[in-house]
Amino acid sequence: MAEDKKSEQTLDALIVGAGFAGMYMLYKLRGLGLSVRVVDAASGVGGTWYWNRYPGARCDVDSMFYSYSFDEALEQQWEWTERYPAQPEILEYANHVAGRFDLWPDIQLETRAASAHYDDGDARWRIETESGEAFSAQFCILATGCLSSANKPDFEGLDDFAGRQFHTGHWPHEPVDFTGRRVGVIGTGSSGVQAIQEIAKQAEHLTVFQRTASYVVEAFNRPLTTEEQLETKAQYAELRAAAKSTFGGFSMSANDVSALSVSEEECRRGLQEGWDNGGIAFLASYNDFGLSEEANLRAQEFVRDKIREVVKDPETMEKLLPHHIIGCKRLCLGTHYYETYNRPNVSLVSVAENGVERITPTGLVTGGVEYPLDDLVLATGFDAMTGSISRIDIRGRAGMELKTAWAAGPRNYLGLMTNGFPNLFTITGPGSPSVLSNMMPTIEQHVEWVSDCIAYLRDRNVREIDAKLDAQDAWVEHGNEIASKTLRYSCSSWYLGANVPGKPRVFMPYIGGMPAYREKCDAVVAAGYEGFALTG
Ligand code: NAP
Repeated sequence: MAEDKKSEQTLDALIVGAGFAGMYMLYKLRGLGLSVRVVDAASGVGGTWYWNRYPGARCDVDSMFYSYSFDEALEQQWEWTERYPAQPEILEYANHVAGRFDLWPDIQLETRAASAHYDDGDARWRIETESGEAFSAQFCILATGCLSSANKPDFEGLDDFAGRQFHTGHWPHEPVDFTGRRVGVIGTGSSGVQAIQEIAKQAEHLTVFQRTASYVVEAFNRPLTTEEQLETKAQYAELRAAAKSTFGGFSMSANDVSALSVSEEECRRGLQEGWDNGGIAFLASYNDFGLSEEANLRAQEFVRDKIREVVKDPETMEKLLPHHIIGCKRLCLGTHYYETYNRPNVSLVSVAENGVERITPTGLVTGGVEYPLDDLVLATGFDAMTGSISRIDIRGRAGMELKTAWAAGPRNYLGLMTNGFPNLFTITGPGSPSVLSNMMPTIEQHVEWVSDCIAYLRDRNVREIDAKLDAQDAWVEHGNEIASKTLRYSCSSWYLGANVPGKPRVFMPYIGGMPAYREKCDAVVAAGYEGFALTG
């Protein structure tokens, strides 16, 4: 008998998102003997790495540590080829994991969750997909990713552009050839920086439209040798444990010295060492770049000098100099990014003053000047952290809408649960270290916390867990308080939601560091899920 599309499928848990969080969540919950389904709008697994296929897309965390640690055979057998993994390799890894652990049968692709409504009566979530498919599940887990919902600014005339138009976060599957084309890229964040370096090599002419100059540190990506892979693998457990004890869960920790405790000359030597190590480790050269403006200025000036050394045209060089707090926005990693602007086929246009006035069928207008374009690339980022959650119509107890509960910014307890939305968990969402940390260990910590919690509830026949309002308020207040002591509020970053017009300006990730956060999560469990109401 053909299945009625509208008939409800009953599950123990429904997971939204088949990225690294959703896949591991499925693995853990299936291990508990639960019936689980993962739904994802994409046609494949990998989450953000499925969508972000733009030229040059690459992770800024060392590949050997941007990987799962839960399975020893997996980490020993998988071979990464480069220091920083490129998007195709990460996607291959995601597909390998899905096959290796036989996850495919429980993953339903091309299925977008449209709504999730909680039924107080039977303490179950009713989830509907955009195509009208319905699920009933005791637990609903949002593994929706922090950087999955593309931010496409509402530029006047955008739909009338006659050439090809791309967003870095929704790149086509087939290779895009820019040979002989006049290409415009809007945006110079991490995605723009990576795409610009590659498109410049192909395009007849590349015009970069920059609103805010970024700090771009040299990545020093390179192939990984067999010897260094073996060396890491021989001590993987110890190295991973050491990484987890650092603030961000990365493979390096901050040098515990103030930049102001040393002479300017010595500070420069330290910064040069950090620079030579490559990547985000640069900001770990000293311990107070996030706290002291004076210390921060030293790091800023160091990078500005690098730009001054490289860029030949004085006007372009001036435009490329960033002047905000370094590290306030996510540091970008480049491979000869600034050298790109010495190419004769690349020009830089500032839209800081006039903005993108409009897009015409044949180009982009700013400052009253039209720049003719065949292709337009939007590297304009994401509606980060909450974008993928808020596009689902989520209603908790008594029909309360999550968007109402989060109207002034996301409010939850430990970044895991929101008061009034029982049995609904968020993986690496706002209120947790998430994007300020290495996502893989962070995902593992959250998934393990949630699966332990579900096992606990089931062992005790508890049918409902909910965050208590006072615990939630205290957590939000604590998060805001520690964020306010840093320099993070000083710029318009996506961490604050400042890149999306109308989004509440709240520092979304938890900035207390991974060790403190993990300790808190563990202490809550040890105290019998303190701050949560368990009802059976
Ligand atoms: P992003 O950092 O938010 O950068 C978006 C860029 O678009 C910014 O330069 C922004 O300018 C510009 N922009 C946005 N709206 C605009 C408008 N209306 N007019 C003109 N310019 C506009 O986004 P992203 O580059 O996609 O990166 C987001 C995050 O994804 C990164 O911070 C990182 O965490 C992650 N990511 C990581 C990697 C990696 O691992 N290497 C690669 C890509 C992305 P303003 O700065 O003035 O707002």
